[in-house]
Amino acid sequence: MRPPLPRPEPKLLWILPFVAVSLLLVLAGVLAVDRMSQLGTSTKDVVGNVLADVTLTARMRRDLDHVRLLADEHVYEKGTEAMAALDARITAAQADYDAAAAKFESLPLLPEERTHWNDMQETRDRIKRGLARVLALSRMNDDVPARRELVAMDDEFDRVTGDVRALRDMATRRADDMVPRVEALQRSSARYLAFLAGAGATLAIAVGLSVTHILQSRERLLRLHAERVEASNRDLDAFAGRVAHDLRAPMTTAMLTTEWLVRHSPEAEHQERLGALKRSFGRMDGIIEELLALSRIATQEPEAACDPAAAAEQLREELASRADASGVSLAIDVQKATVHCSEGLLRQVLWNLADNAMKYRRPDVAARVEICGRAADGDYELAVRDNGIGIPREEAKRVFDPFFRAVGARNAPGTGLGLSIVKRAVEASGGRVRVASEPGRGSEFVVRLPLA
Ligand code: ADP
Repeated sequence: MRPPLPRPEPKLLWILPFVAVSLLLVLAGVLAVDRMSQLGTSTKDVVGNVLADVTLTARMRRDLDHVRLLADEHVYEKGTEAMAALDARITAAQADYDAAAAKFESLPLLPEERTHWNDMQETRDRIKRGLARVLALSRMNDDVPARRELVAMDDEFDRVTGDVRALRDMATRRADDMVPRVEALQRSSARYLAFLAGAGATLAIAVGLSVTHILQSRERLLRLHAERVEASNRDLDAFAGRVAHDLRAPMTTAMLTTEWLVRHSPEAEHQERLGALKRSFGRMDGIIEELLALSRIATQEPEAACDPAAAAEQLREELASRADASGVSLAIDVQKATVHCSEGLLRQVLWNLADNAMKYRRPDVAARVEICGRAADGDYELAVRDNGIGIPREEAKRVFDPFFRAVGARNAPGTGLGLSIVKRAVEASGGRVRVASEPGRGSEFVVRLPLA
């Protein structure tokens, strides 16, 4: 008894590491995307805040400078209308300052910036109050005290200018401080991306290796299966050969006895029955012959080679007189070559195919059989064509099965083993055989054999 074939390796064990590495890849991908988006947000925040800081502080400073200049003009102005116009412009400049201040207030400020900002707001409140007094005096054309008060406020204006500069410097420093953070984020994104690339490459290599491994083990298994099938075919052939061989002796005795009885039985009724018995024994003898031929295939030498032209020439000699007698035109054109197949087997193959081609002829048409052979695409191709009854498509698939006989062919003598012998012989020599046929038009059997 042969040991059982190894089972294919369980798929799950192979899939698990890939699932794990794929999950790691997904994780690294998510982290890399997160770092990249953090990087984008941080850069946008830093740039946005610094720009807002600088723009708003510059705007507030410009508004205060403007207010200072307008207040000066107000003090010099004597006309009520002109002063009212200046009042309106001062109010507008102060409103613009307040709007800028409200926006600045909402920016994320560091504690140090917050202190400066509070200080600046207090100074600005004092300026606002002082300015109200200056404008009231100016409106009453009390210019000397108004100017004095305004000049006294210059320190406050300078102080605001100082605060504005300090806030701008701080914003720039804050941007500088953010640079290392952004760089750290860049580095960590790069690390994740590198990991992603490395893990991706590892996964690809691992998949490649494991697919190769799986394919190799499948191939090993297939080879083992093929060897098993081959071995059991050989066993079957040997068994069929032994059975056929053992049947031969009693069959010969039975046939001889039948013939003796035919010669020694005068009754006509007995003659009829003995004739049927003789025909049956004849058929059984045919089967035994073919089973023996089948079993001999397995004993072919693996390195055997022959010239198909020589095998075809021998066939011509064997078939010529039969073809003449039955009115079959036989055309043989087989080129010389050396193919992987013993001459005995190749003769058997050609004989079986030609025998069928002559046997399955159409009664109403002059039979024609062609046998051609030539090298084709690195192999040797032998074709046996006829213009006989042909084979229906659904039956053509089964003609190489042992004991198969097409429905329309059952009147002709035969065992149903000829084509299975052809197939086994061709395949045992490393070749292939196929059939193409059209019912009512004819058939073509093509044998491909490897060149030696
Ligand atoms: P058999 O002894 O019946 O000829 P084979 O194995 O040689 O057995 O052929 C199997 C069957 O294939 C035949 O019974 C017949 O139906 C069909 N067949 C084979 N060769 C031909 C052919 N040249 N033309 C038509 N039918 C064929």
